[in-house]
Amino acid sequence: MRRIDLATGRVDVVPVPCGSTREDVCRPCADKARRLRMTQCREGWHLDEEPVPAPAVPSALQKEVMAARADLHAAYARARADGDEEACDEIREAVDELNEELRALGVRGRLAPLDPPDKAAVKRSTRRRQDAPDLPRRPVENRTVGQVYGGRYRPSTFLTLTLDTYGRVGGDGAAVDPDSYDYRRAARDAIHFPRLVDRFWQNTRRCVGWDVQYFGTVEPQRRGAPHFHAAIRGTIPRAELRAIAAATYHQVWWPAHDQQRYRGDRLPRWDGTAKAFVDPDTRDPLPTFDEACNDLAEPAHVVRFGTQVHVKGILGGTEEAGRHVGYLTKYLTKSVGQAAGLGEDATDRQREHARRLVAELRVTPCSPRCGVWLLYGVQPKGARSSTTPGVCKGKAHKPEHLGIAGRRVLVSRKWSNKTLDDHRAERAAFVRQLLDRAGVRPGYAVDDGPFEWERTNAGDPDVPTRPVLLLHAISERQRWKADYAAAQLAAGDGPPGDRSATGDQAA
Ligand SMILES: [Zn+2]
Ligand SMILES: [Zn+2]
Repeated sequence: MRRIDLATGRVDVVPVPCGSTREDVCRPCADKARRLRMTQCREGWHLDEEPVPAPAVPSALQKEVMAARADLHAAYARARADGDEEACDEIREAVDELNEELRALGVRGRLAPLDPPDKAAVKRSTRRRQDAPDLPRRPVENRTVGQVYGGRYRPSTFLTLTLDTYGRVGGDGAAVDPDSYDYRRAARDAIHFPRLVDRFWQNTRRCVGWDVQYFGTVEPQRRGAPHFHAAIRGTIPRAELRAIAAATYHQVWWPAHDQQRYRGDRLPRWDGTAKAFVDPDTRDPLPTFDEACNDLAEPAHVVRFGTQVHVKGILGGTEEAGRHVGYLTKYLTKSVGQAAGLGEDATDRQREHARRLVAELRVTPCSPRCGVWLLYGVQPKGARSSTTPGVCKGKAHKPEHLGIAGRRVLVSRKWSNKTLDDHRAERAAFVRQLLDRAGVRPGYAVDDGPFEWERTNAGDPDVPTRPVLLLHAISERQRWKADYAAAQLAAGDGPPGDRSATGDQAA
């Protein structure tokens, strides 16, 4: 990137890290991302004071994106008034993208959804309440830190939740008898797992009566099913967590999708005049998703946790706490498939097991907007001429995700009350302070900007060759490292080059 220092006018072409979180794409970047997650996990786990939210001052970029989103909301209202569904769909997608961008920019809290509340959904809600009536209900106190025991111990909790069994598996995770293994339930459970985890936290807070905070990761087991590990701040009795997991369920109020009505060459067709998908023979329009949802007598699917619930008390600052932070973040640099052991050395049995699960995921709708609905004779939300029956770009259907399409890291809002950017900035500040304290003057100019950045193009005369850029970057890192080591030595912070000291704290 070309970096322009707006204060001095100096222009540099600097190499910029790719920022990948995947080890097979870029190890150094993935490593760095994982370390940041470790810091985030560690900081919130054993907090003994309530993290106070800092007042949010929107940045210029955040403001810009918010303004763009406000424009889209207005455009959406117009398109709805005009009944232009295609425009509505496009705007909805654009807003989804902007919301993602805003989250990436560190905007927290609920982003206003586009759809006005659906009246039908409100009417149904009493029958479809997903309360867990077997659990005690306490008013939720405005407290997120755990209790202190014996005057000084503040234990916290490590929790693992798994899904039910779908049939026996061997030590390699592959089904012993693939023909009787319930791949359909496995596929649906995987797709709806994040909602189940959400319900679990809702029930937990209601049941224990305080605002429980967690840092959790969703990982595949060897059998390919997702499971959930979480660091929880504070102690919740094991029996209580077990009871909550047992009472928690998520009902999927979608149209039934057990029998495929269309397959092969016989697929629904788009009718340009009716602006709808129709049956290829009768030419009758298929029911829309909402129509098909109108008179459901029962949910299409219900997800529950399996009986295996592991709960462990962990004391802050112990070696055990550190080990569990490592455990929580261990697979974040791998794809779901890799983490499930489906690498190059997977056996034929493992491959066959994965193939069957993926085949089921391919015909399992992932959302109300999924093109797979057309195979079951239902028009997905937002269907249009370009929708292909049975085809959906959703991550859930892709072989490498095994149905685990959502976020891999789930962090509650009041965990540390810091964004990843906040944590990043803190690490840089830590190093700067250490250098300052030790009186180490960096042997190179530090520009403070403000900077403007622009992309370089291949063939720009001011862009050095790749080897030159890399050598520059390496020598710069070496200087930083030497300065840091000197500062540590001066501050008496232990031997330089000690990975455990520098690795976690150096920016
Ligand atoms: Zn990289
Ligand atoms: Zn889909």
